[in-house]
Amino acid sequence: MLVYMVERGKYLLPEESLRRRPEGKRGLYVNITNECPCACTFCLRTLKDMPEDMSLWLGGKEPAVEEVKEALLAAPWPYVREVVFCGFGEPTMRLSALIELLRFVKQQHPDLPTRLNTNGLSDLVYGRDTTADFAGGILDTVSISLNASNAERYLELTRSEFGIESFEAMLAFAQHMKAYVPHVVMTIVEKVEDAEEIEKCRALCAARSLDLRVRTYEGS
Ligand code: SF4
Repeated sequence: MLVYMVERGKYLLPEESLRRRPEGKRGLYVNITNECPCACTFCLRTLKDMPEDMSLWLGGKEPAVEEVKEALLAAPWPYVREVVFCGFGEPTMRLSALIELLRFVKQQHPDLPTRLNTNGLSDLVYGRDTTADFAGGILDTVSISLNASNAERYLELTRSEFGIESFEAMLAFAQHMKAYVPHVVMTIVEKVEDAEEIEKCRALCAARSLDLRVRTYEGS
């Protein structure tokens, strides 16, 4: 599925979402890649054995930008509250496609908020500061997976291919994004960590003037 909606934890094609719930606005999620430099212990990608038509796993090659634009144009926009770049992979693995699609969404629907869910490691992927790519008002919220309060625990959970430097790179990305994106939100998964670790994450975010959201686990 290139674009999908979420109903009661299920990933659905927009038409199926509307069939199940004909009223009300909801998020429209955009899925552009399976790639990711991490292999998080709790990642939903391990659930890729869902039925093909219900799955976020992109079969074959990744969709061309034009294909995603077509899917976006066909979406039921009167029912959309927010557009979220998310999916089973890490959207910034296709950074130029992501930027082009964010721009496309804002051109088509300037009043709708956009969000990117990311691991925040794109500076390491591309070997440069990527945050300015998000300038120009194309992105309203970036939600960055903090995952842990320190580099060792972060690496244990994410198994990032970039190793121990990943944690600081992710935090630097978050701080630099504040120059370009109005809402920068760090996230941690509730059931993955205990209360003490969550408190340490709160302290870390407070010290760096970053917002933290503790989100519910969706992997079981
Ligand atoms: S960063 Fe996200 S997509 Fe990548 S392995 Fe971790 S949870 Fe999965």
